[in-house]
Amino acid sequence: MPIENLKSLSDAMFGIIGSNQVFLLAGHKRPDGDSMGAQAALAHILRDMGKTIVWHDLNACPPAYRFLPGIEADLARAKEPQPKPDATFLLDCSSTERVAPGFAPQGPTVCIDHHQTNQATTDVNIVDPAASSTGEMLYEILEARGLPLTEAVATCLYTSILTDTGSFRYSNTTGRVMAIAGRLIEAGADPAAIARACFENREPASLILEGAVLADLRYECAGRLVWSEIRLDRLAAHGGEASEPEDLVSKMRSARGVEVSILFKETPTGLRVSFRSKHVVDVAALAGRFEGGGHARAAGAELTGGYDDLRRQVLETARAFMAQ
Ligand code: AMP
Ligand code: MN
Ligand code: MN
Repeated sequence: MPIENLKSLSDAMFGIIGSNQVFLLAGHKRPDGDSMGAQAALAHILRDMGKTIVWHDLNACPPAYRFLPGIEADLARAKEPQPKPDATFLLDCSSTERVAPGFAPQGPTVCIDHHQTNQATTDVNIVDPAASSTGEMLYEILEARGLPLTEAVATCLYTSILTDTGSFRYSNTTGRVMAIAGRLIEAGADPAAIARACFENREPASLILEGAVLADLRYECAGRLVWSEIRLDRLAAHGGEASEPEDLVSKMRSARGVEVSILFKETPTGLRVSFRSKHVVDVAALAGRFEGGGHARAAGAELTGGYDDLRRQVLETARAFMAQ
């Protein structure tokens, strides 16, 4: 891992672990496989050290990731009164603003993240934009520390890496990522079972919604830009939020000649927008124009205002980016 001072950051992190007992775990809102996998892995690591976990927002865990070891038990436990945390971990999350509402960090704070747009102001901030996933970073931290890799931790970390590399297809898939995935499998992660759980357990209505979005693709810039949208009425007609297809915007990028794909999702206050690029355009910079962020090939933003006007503004800016 190219973080030069990883040893001192990791020492600081384990210092905080050693001197505290109850840890609050948080990731970004609308958690994905990396966010859930990394949090679930850290929950196991900390518990194996005799610590106690409090999740900030476990109910937001999408059904696809409830197979992760310990999640169902923790969901049941989360209904009971929770102890007061005395330290906080923020995973796969570039700032406290990206956490679901109600987040109140307690005690010393540690962030582990791989977003190039990271702006966290935590006491310890471990950021590696070259890492495929937060799961990969956790693996490196564990290995450098000589901590054991249990089957549960391996399953969680494999899920992080699998989902954030687009099933080992994206440019963040390095030889090191493959070597780590191999070690995770040797430690007990079951690749076929994990892929089935993550990708082949969808709401049937979600496929119909996906079909409607794909039937509605609009191409611009001589086919280099493609966009579509999920308006609130379309979402409601297909089973609501639980049916929102994960990472549909990446599928939209798959058409020949497309460089950038954009998916607009209407919200009661405006819209969320997801950007993907295939090879050239830095969509994190594009999202940055709208106070969003992410990675060069995958980014997003959340905007408040009138839907039509916001969509027009984003498309105008995207067209200008394509012309650069
Ligand atoms: P998504 O399109 O929601 O899958 O997000 C793609 C990437 O951009 C992920 O790494 C997100 O963490 C990041 N991202 C999405 N929305 C935002 C936002 N509002 N601010 C910063 N980063 C974001
Ligand atoms: Mn994420
Ligand atoms: Mn991630």
